[in-house]
Amino acid sequence: MRKSFRVICISLALMLFMFSGFSTKYLRSENMNDADYTQANIVRNGPREQKYIALTFDDGPHPQYTTEILDLLKKHNIKATFFVLGQLAEKYPDIIKRQVNEGHEVGNHTYSHFDITKISKDEFKEEFRRTQDIISSLTGVESNVFRPPYGLYNENVVKIINEQQSNIILWTYDQDSKDWSNPGVDKIVDTTVANIKNGDIILFHDYVYHETSNTVSALESIIPELINKGYNFVTVSELMDLLKKDIVNN
Ligand SMILES: [Zn+2]
Repeated sequence: MRKSFRVICISLALMLFMFSGFSTKYLRSENMNDADYTQANIVRNGPREQKYIALTFDDGPHPQYTTEILDLLKKHNIKATFFVLGQLAEKYPDIIKRQVNEGHEVGNHTYSHFDITKISKDEFKEEFRRTQDIISSLTGVESNVFRPPYGLYNENVVKIINEQQSNIILWTYDQDSKDWSNPGVDKIVDTTVANIKNGDIILFHDYVYHETSNTVSALESIIPELINKGYNFVTVSELMDLLKKDIVNN
């Protein structure tokens, strides 16, 4: 009863949305009657019952580091999600195409990496849409995963992401490798491997903020260790699908 009420509410909201003159071409193609999935989602992890985790990489693409990470993922035949900046995707389109061709997911991380809680609604919408359009023109797919820079968001951001049929993807609290601060290979490996749990979304960066990055070297240890522990690596959307099944089953 409650679920059908939610379905009716969402259907009405959708009709209003369509009749408001807003272009519907950006609507996600999934079943729009699925209440659990069409609400504005803020996701920090997948289901805790199964050994599925998601590696995520922010701030790229970078011609060296992203390529090295893609080589490593290919070697182990695992999938990941890249939250890319529109301005870099424009600069390195072939890397985005490679990511998709090799089965990875490409998500939106804004065009210029502003703190989006400090810009206007219109500016944020422009940052989001411009990047969506770049990603869809390169991949042929409309991304439905968005990671706010620094993990910062407010009510306006949630509202726009909801309107745009996307989802806010954060990361699991203790799975911030802080690799951008260059803490050293061992520290990155320890942070990830020691804290790993089913359903974790792990945050890395495929960009360099200091002279060099330890992320690739750390991943050379992390990936085999997590494979040995029995973890399966999926994209964020795959993790959300598992979460959705989990919600339906419980
Ligand atoms: Zn970032």
